[in-house]
Amino acid sequence: MGTGEYMKKRDLKKSPEPKMKKKKTGRSIFVIQKHDASHLHYDFRLEIDGVLKSWAIPKGPSTDPKDKRLAILTEDHPIDYADFEGVIPEGNYGAGKVIVWDKGTFSNKKDKTLSEQFDDGVLEVEIKGKKIEGGYALRRFRGEKNWLLIKMKDDKADARRNPVSSEPESVISGKKIEELEKPGL
Ligand code: MN
Repeated sequence: MGTGEYMKKRDLKKSPEPKMKKKKTGRSIFVIQKHDASHLHYDFRLEIDGVLKSWAIPKGPSTDPKDKRLAILTEDHPIDYADFEGVIPEGNYGAGKVIVWDKGTFSNKKDKTLSEQFDDGVLEVEIKGKKIEGGYALRRFRGEKNWLLIKMKDDKADARRNPVSSEPESVISGKKIEELEKPGL
């Protein structure tokens, strides 16, 4: 995957999404965007080598280590995408509303580099978000695109929490996705 696929899928004269360019923040940012497109999903993104590696998770992340959440690998996104919240107009790729559901930083839990782990299909990271915290593993299980997101067992694991339903609002604007307004034309 390179940086071309993102640009190929979009006409940025018609969509307010940011341009693709490689850019390291040096902070290892992580973001989860709630995206109400043709199917509602949560886009889970980790900064690796100047891009946001991205997975679409239909049910969103869980805080219960017993849950295995399907995570479909999607194209690399630009680092600037981590702050994108808005409406992608009808007729464009990914048309629909986007809010920043959680955002923060993460660290590598293993002594292999993140890109080596990505290539191996087993990534283990320590997340520091506002809603999601602690160890998470991403494991590729079938083909190139089918991965699972699993909460690792630690003191942040909690089978009773369900932040996807109990904390639906944006960590940037405080808005729920239904409250985003279509841009005036
Ligand atoms: Mn999406």
